[in-house]
Amino acid sequence: SKVASALRSWLPRAPVRFNHLPLGFLSPVILLDSKAQQTELEWISYPPNGWEEISGLDENYTPIRTYQVCQVMEPNQNNWLRTNWIEKGDAQRIFVELKFTLRDCNSLPGVVGTCKETFNLYYQETDSEVGRSLRENQYVKIDTIAADESFTQGDLGERKMKLNTEVRIIGPLSRRGFYLAFQDVGACIALVSVKVYYKKCWSIIENLATFPDTVTGSEFSSLVEVEGMCVSDAEEEADNSPKMHCSAEGEWLVPIGKCICKAGFHQKGDACEPCGRGFYKSSSQDLQCSRCPAHSFNDREGSWRCDCEDGYYRALSDPPSVACTRPPSAPQNLVYNINQTTVSLEWSPPADTGGRNDVSYRVICRRCSWEPEECVPCGPNVGYSPAQSGLVDTYVTIMDLLAHANYTFEVEAVNGVSDLSRTQRLFAAVSIATGQAAPSQVSEVIKEKVQQRSIQLSWQEPHQPNGVITEYEIKYYEKDQKDRIYSTVRSKSTSATVNNLKPSTAYVFQIRAFTEAGYGTYGPRLEITTKEEATGRGLHTAAIVSSEQNPVIIIAVVAVAGTIILVFMVFGFIIGRRHCGYSKADQEGDEELYFQFKFPGTKTYIDPETYEDPNRAVHQFAKELDASCIKIERVIGAGEFGEVCSGRLKLPGKRDVSVAIKTLKVGYTEKQRREFLCEASIMGQFDHPNVVHLEGVVTRGKPVMIVIEYMENGSLDAFLRKHDGQFTVIQLVGMLRGIAAGMRYLSDMGYVHRDLAARNILVNSNLVCKVSDFGLSRVIDDDPEAVYTTTGGKIPVRWTAPEAIQYRKFTSASDVWSYGIVMWEVMSYGERPYWDMSNQDVIKAIEEGYRLPAPMDCPPGLHQLMLDCWQKDRAERPKFDQIVGILDKMIRNPNTLKTPVGTCTRPISPLLDQSTPDFTAFRSVGEWLEAIKMERYRDNFTAAGYSSLESVARMSIEDVMSLGITLVGHQKKIMSSIQTMRAQMLHLHGTGVQV
Ligand code: AMP
Repeated sequence: SKVASALRSWLPRAPVRFNHLPLGFLSPVILLDSKAQQTELEWISYPPNGWEEISGLDENYTPIRTYQVCQVMEPNQNNWLRTNWIEKGDAQRIFVELKFTLRDCNSLPGVVGTCKETFNLYYQETDSEVGRSLRENQYVKIDTIAADESFTQGDLGERKMKLNTEVRIIGPLSRRGFYLAFQDVGACIALVSVKVYYKKCWSIIENLATFPDTVTGSEFSSLVEVEGMCVSDAEEEADNSPKMHCSAEGEWLVPIGKCICKAGFHQKGDACEPCGRGFYKSSSQDLQCSRCPAHSFNDREGSWRCDCEDGYYRALSDPPSVACTRPPSAPQNLVYNINQTTVSLEWSPPADTGGRNDVSYRVICRRCSWEPEECVPCGPNVGYSPAQSGLVDTYVTIMDLLAHANYTFEVEAVNGVSDLSRTQRLFAAVSIATGQAAPSQVSEVIKEKVQQRSIQLSWQEPHQPNGVITEYEIKYYEKDQKDRIYSTVRSKSTSATVNNLKPSTAYVFQIRAFTEAGYGTYGPRLEITTKEEATGRGLHTAAIVSSEQNPVIIIAVVAVAGTIILVFMVFGFIIGRRHCGYSKADQEGDEELYFQFKFPGTKTYIDPETYEDPNRAVHQFAKELDASCIKIERVIGAGEFGEVCSGRLKLPGKRDVSVAIKTLKVGYTEKQRREFLCEASIMGQFDHPNVVHLEGVVTRGKPVMIVIEYMENGSLDAFLRKHDGQFTVIQLVGMLRGIAAGMRYLSDMGYVHRDLAARNILVNSNLVCKVSDFGLSRVIDDDPEAVYTTTGGKIPVRWTAPEAIQYRKFTSASDVWSYGIVMWEVMSYGERPYWDMSNQDVIKAIEEGYRLPAPMDCPPGLHQLMLDCWQKDRAERPKFDQIVGILDKMIRNPNTLKTPVGTCTRPISPLLDQSTPDFTAFRSVGEWLEAIKMERYRDNFTAAGYSSLESVARMSIEDVMSLGITLVGHQKKIMSSIQTMRAQMLHLHGTGVQV
């Protein structure tokens, strides 16, 4: 069908000729050409007086051999002429071309009746020569040949030659050869030439296939199908082998299919040539050789692919056309967060993905012993979320770790070629010590012995003790009573006998384990009924005797509310617990007592998040106020959760005081309420003159309110900007001292602020600065300065220590860094740290060791203290305690706060370099303006007559404003530069400048 359709499209056209076919492609194979023969033809003629061989000249006067006969006068002529035997070779169809002249009978006088104007052509097939005898009946007639043109003897006697050409085809032939015979029956003929030939399609290369010489088919209409053979280094296209068709005319027709150059070779003309060095062709389907992809090479010709450079690989699934790639570099900025026995890791993608986009991550967890440090794989009991390997996102949570254990986590970035690489694994690693965690549930409890008044139980240690279990608590109650009234007994071992039970009574038992980290949760309820009694009644008090029969612990469980209240009063401060399944009895029970004794009086900050019931945390630390004591006066600001108002608080029997009231807007969610009150739970734990004081909360009415001491001057940054340049250095240092003292108190409490910045310091009417803005994560969330960093989480970059940005290592030392920034803010009257640099640039600059230069007029000692706070190694930074000491010393010796030349320190870095140019070096006002990048105001200065630097140095802020400089930032910049210039002049020339 393919051929048929191809034929359909080809046949209507003229036979196709291929331009590139060899010359003579249509030239036939000649079997006999009488003209070409110079010697006698010696064909057989019979009878002897018939055909006669005569030498003559053709139309071009070339000598030729001809046969002639002209017996026109005699009747009954039958003259035969037979050629020599013609071997047919491959031929099946033979062409016979005759050239002859024939005399017109009319031109011959007196021949009417005998003269003929035709002759007959015959042939006889034989396998070999058959001798010279001639038998008519053995011949097959081909045709009667008549002349198209006959010639006449001209009147003038000259001969007009008219040469006739007739072609006849014979075939199919089956014998090895044949004879031709010419029968004359009385004509006047000269056979000028006899040519016998057959046609062939000559060998060609088409579509990279060679087609051999092919003899045409036997029938006129037949096409001979010929299979092509691919040229060397070529192969047949799949399902499309090359074919052509040889027509009867010896022409190639209808090419179908083709060959294509094999991989590693490309087509050049009719041949396939190897790809050059540095090139490849991966498939025969590709047309061209391509240059080796990135990180690959070859130094052979004819390559189907390129080899990867050292250290680069190709994954099995990578086609040869893609670049060789390598394993990714290690993930970056690996940070962790520990929550008891759960560790979450987060990281940023590797700097180098190896050139691939199939990077995923895997975590390797090892548990390490402390001394000597030996690590073993964490094993199957550890859980990974979302998975341990094949992580697409850059975080993972690892759960069910052992408490109080050392772990190392390696996070490796892998891609499609990681497994091929034999180079060293690259990973980011952290070593982490898990925190405390309460033991897991005691679930497998067995009743060993059940009697009338006692039940003996035993149980398995919980699967995850998370520490040394020092004790088990068995809680039990009569089933009917529910757990409204329950008793507990304790045991140091994994069995206990509960005595003094009532007979025939159903009891419910639950057991929990206790470690240093506290109680675990109760295991499932186990119901057991005591045996029927013979006599007597059970006591209401239960006691436990441990299975060792030693009266190790005998604790009577009684309602001891009174005692507890007493203890509360003695210790004043209650340490909260992490697990807060507070039932009524629980709250009045003896556990709190137990803890009281355990950590008497240590005043540390307690994370309110550890309270399951946030209300409880609030009331633990904040006083509930009666809404009627509060008078809201006006709105002073907007907080994250609602308006901030000022007002008055009048507690019974006390003076009324000014307060700020933070309100929780209506329509809050439970989560918002919790977060809102969280600030109060934190603030309520603090009591220090430099920490904003919490008066109390209103949680039982609406709106929910937090009542704080009123800070008349609002936040420090805005306050300083409003009073730019108006304070003495001592006043500024006094403010800093206050903030440092507040921070010292907070860090002593174990509270890490994380968002210490001038905007989070409040100032009262006496210029006392107090640290404010407490909260957990939300503090950062609501800070407009906080931006998301690559490590995740929102961070106020400009204020935050590098380790806290990079791996969220927030400590008091990172608070010290922030404090240094606050110092800078204070000394520059609320200038934005790092000005308009982008957060990214700030991170980079800090990483490269640059630090903020001293603000104008900043005493060098203070800048030095800032630089100390900005030590890269957080251990090197001063503690708040030391900072308070240094500031106190400065305040006591105001001389140390004198600014020598208007600048603090020698420049130590480019960032510092920006600090202060040497103004005395400028020769003109223009030069100075250029140096401070204010050259746009050159004309303003000139027009107003400020032509010398001395005159400029005398300018006041009003003078600057009168020049028409309206931008406050520019006014400030120019003014502070003028102040410095003034100081430098004073220092250099000892001449005061009168302003
Ligand atoms: P905050 O939600 O804590 O950021 O408070 C919002 C704004 O209310 C602050 O920027 C202050 O201007 C103002 N503010 C908060 N607390 C007080 C306070 N105790 N005394 C005076 N103003 C306050």
